[in-house]
Amino acid sequence: MNTQTRLVEVRQKVLKQNDVVARALRQRFNDAGVRVISLVSSPGSGKTMFLERVLTLLAKRHRVAALVGDLATDNDAQRLARSGAPVRQIVTGTVCHLEAQMVQDALEGWDLDSLDYLFIENVGNLVCPASYDLGEAHRLVLFSVTEGEDKPLKYPTIFNTADVAVITKMDLAAAVGFDRAAAHANILAVRPGMQIFELSAKTGEGLEEWLQTIESPQPVSAG
Ligand code: MG
Ligand code: ZN
Repeated sequence: MNTQTRLVEVRQKVLKQNDVVARALRQRFNDAGVRVISLVSSPGSGKTMFLERVLTLLAKRHRVAALVGDLATDNDAQRLARSGAPVRQIVTGTVCHLEAQMVQDALEGWDLDSLDYLFIENVGNLVCPASYDLGEAHRLVLFSVTEGEDKPLKYPTIFNTADVAVITKMDLAAAVGFDRAAAHANILAVRPGMQIFELSAKTGEGLEEWLQTIESPQPVSAG
């Protein structure tokens, strides 16, 4: 067996193990009645600011918590804790994505029955998070108006593993000449029928609209 073949086999085994853990997590989340929403995006697309606003708004009417993944530092967790929601940091070190086992470890000691919503912010990366199921019910892929309308074409796999696309920093759209029609067309070219939200965590524009969809009864999952 050459090295290449062996590496591919090891990688497949790791992914399979991840799926086993993710499946068990999903069952636990379902049993506890907690709705788990994960967020993926490039670095700097505004995930943390979005999540800070969402936690603050949702915490007024539901029991919410968050896990946040980063390569280093717990800056984001500290920032999110300002919302008043319980937040735990997952420092991944050199690993550029979250894995189901990391989520399971981070949940140690948390009573899931006491939660309505759990958010999982992945490491900023649009590549490998696509390969790792985290047991979430709902995955959001975010990209900001400053990143260019062709992001979905460059990273089709992550758009295909997500349930919803969220375009962030809409308050900057005019300033950067964001081509809304092109962005939508690119998302839909990669993932026909994908639901798209446009919002600004800074101004609050579009946030309530998105919140209404996650507060509505859970859609039946195809997966
Ligand atoms: Mg962040
Ligand atoms: Zn990675």
